[in-house]
Amino acid sequence: MARTTGPVYITNLLHLFPADPESVIPDKALKLREFLGLIVRTATAVMAETDIAAGIRCRSRMHRKKCTGFLLIQRQDVPGPFIHWACDRCGSGGRIEGFAGSPYDLSRFRNGLGSGDGGERIQVEITPDEYNSLIAGKFIPYDPDSERIIFSARYYEETVQLEAAADDLDTLGDCVAADANHEKNRKRAKHVQSIFQKITVALDMDSRRSNGDCRIRSGWTH
Ligand SMILES: [Zn+2]
Repeated sequence: MARTTGPVYITNLLHLFPADPESVIPDKALKLREFLGLIVRTATAVMAETDIAAGIRCRSRMHRKKCTGFLLIQRQDVPGPFIHWACDRCGSGGRIEGFAGSPYDLSRFRNGLGSGDGGERIQVEITPDEYNSLIAGKFIPYDPDSERIIFSARYYEETVQLEAAADDLDTLGDCVAADANHEKNRKRAKHVQSIFQKITVALDMDSRRSNGDCRIRSGWTH
């Protein structure tokens, strides 16, 4: 986990959820909540103490330009629970508390994902732009398992890698297709459509590989 060298923001997520759900939350606070929500979902999609190189872009500005870094994230349960996050380039970052049980906490859905036949998993490489478009959506049609695949993605050598068992990836593909069809923003729709195509190609290659395999698959339970 990289050390934070810039300003450190300590945020209690509870303060960004007003007690009265009818009350209006200022735009700036809402934007911050959505950004921290991405970090919380990433941190809670996996086990605590895992170092995560996330595909989420830094939102800081350096010398009046947008920082091009990506976030490093780690959840700490003891003492805590806390989530630490830091940019891999500019060093800005912070600590989030009060996230447990919030709508962004994916830890309540743990173990919902299959491991695939014998633990085989399929990787899909997408671009950082595609990934950041995907997570900028409102997630209307996504189920918890698909959200967990999205937020378990890792940034690696200029790409963001989604990884899941074939069945789970298939479900994610359906959600992504529905998302692309409903998206009014053309740029985001294009990115999401491209992700759908990449998932389809990866699943297609996997099924061809499986069909060329002599192992008897019937009788395997899922
Ligand atoms: Zn940065």
